[in-house]
Amino acid sequence: MNDYASRVLEDLKARNPYEPEFLQAATEMLSSLTPVLDKHSEYERAGLLERFVEPERVISFRVAWVDDQGKTQVNRGYRVQYNSAIGPYKGGLRLHPSVNLSILKFLGLEQILKNSLTGQPIGGGKGGSDFDPKGKSDREVMAFCQSFMTELYRHIGAYVDVPAGDIGTGAREIGYMYGQYKRIKGLNEGVLTGKGISYGGSLTRKEATGYGLCYFMDNMLTANGRTMNEQTVIISGSGNVSIYACEKATELGAKVVAMSDSTGYIHDPQGVQLDVIKQIKEVERGRISEYVRHVSSGKYFEGCAGIWSIPCDIALPCATQNELDTKAAKALVQGGCFAVGEGANMPTTLEATEYLLAKGVLFAPGKAANAGGVATSALEMSQNSMRHNWTFEEVDRKLRDIMRNIFEKTAEAAKTYADSPTNYVIGANIAGFLKVADAMMAQGIY
Ligand code: NDP
Repeated sequence: MNDYASRVLEDLKARNPYEPEFLQAATEMLSSLTPVLDKHSEYERAGLLERFVEPERVISFRVAWVDDQGKTQVNRGYRVQYNSAIGPYKGGLRLHPSVNLSILKFLGLEQILKNSLTGQPIGGGKGGSDFDPKGKSDREVMAFCQSFMTELYRHIGAYVDVPAGDIGTGAREIGYMYGQYKRIKGLNEGVLTGKGISYGGSLTRKEATGYGLCYFMDNMLTANGRTMNEQTVIISGSGNVSIYACEKATELGAKVVAMSDSTGYIHDPQGVQLDVIKQIKEVERGRISEYVRHVSSGKYFEGCAGIWSIPCDIALPCATQNELDTKAAKALVQGGCFAVGEGANMPTTLEATEYLLAKGVLFAPGKAANAGGVATSALEMSQNSMRHNWTFEEVDRKLRDIMRNIFEKTAEAAKTYADSPTNYVIGANIAGFLKVADAMMAQGIY
């Protein structure tokens, strides 16, 4: 690692000892930047890295709401406004009991680079709460979302900070939050993305991350003499990203044979029946174990880790951070897997990533491969500003072009800077970093 990067990382470790996920993301980013930092000594004089890794602003607040038993509950809400050098802060809101500042800072840091890679004018941010929507009634979710927005509204705006969905925040939650923002501010503005189609949402936003992941994968495979057609695919998770990754992979001729949730996974050698998964997950908000009651060729297994030992050509981790460790990576390689595409943010540990790269597995890093969601959110912002709606096909075409551009930028940076032209991890970090660094240098020290 470059000396300057190494000193910044040591300082970061000393100052944030209890933030492992954040330090993991920062380590990956800073290690990748060596060839660029070696060339640009002016970055050190300008304290560029120290400023890059420190959020511009972190907001933490109390979220009190009343449950169906009449008892008051208190959660903790956050918004990390990380970097606005190239545009308004943009990034999702995660609602999950595991949410803390370490997780939101790792997500925010990755988001800066991801948003830069999209080529659109959006800065990096992330937020959320340790509230768990699972098992709550609609009224309880509404009460939480209204209380959350009653604090958050003063920090966001269509030209300031535009949050979106993430784990636990889907169309229902965005709807309740948007309604509360509008009620308080009296403004119908594009302050959130992932909105319902009837009130300013964009067609294709729901599908965008999963579709975009497959478009990126398709570009990566084509550049390396392969295609998605007739490949066997496993996908972890069964939420927004996983479902639409499954849909697009199937459209591209692949066979998806396994999916999971946080309690277990299903294996269906005949090919997963996505309409059944959609009914269970999107309509009934149920568990994936119910799949086997509807489909006789499916088998259910308790626990998430076993999914990686199913033989496959392509693995798409689309659930959560650090779900794919070295043991899982070894099982994948042993099972014949030749490509991994990160639909989730940082689903692969640093060690597992290194192992996969060393074994020659084509590896599509999340900040490039899952950028289709935020890219389409930026398209939603454009439509809101123009007071205009594009058709599904128009947005899908733009998404496909954006993902091709992201792959090309990533591959170009890998070719220029990395030891191997297929090290897309280094390629994505450098391509994302350079644009933001340039903007920060131009805007003076702040
Ligand atoms: P959802 O909440 O829609 O789905 C998450 C899925 O992951 C669920 O099936 C959930 O299971 C499963 N899951 C959660 N925690 C674990 C765990 N510890 N082990 C195994 N499975 C788990 O979220 P999204 O699909 O929106 O997001 C998934 C990932 O993609 C996240 O990393 C997110 O940051 C990233 N991402 C999302 C984007 C988007 O547009 N939505 C954009 C870019 C990245 P269960 O139902 O049991 O909780």
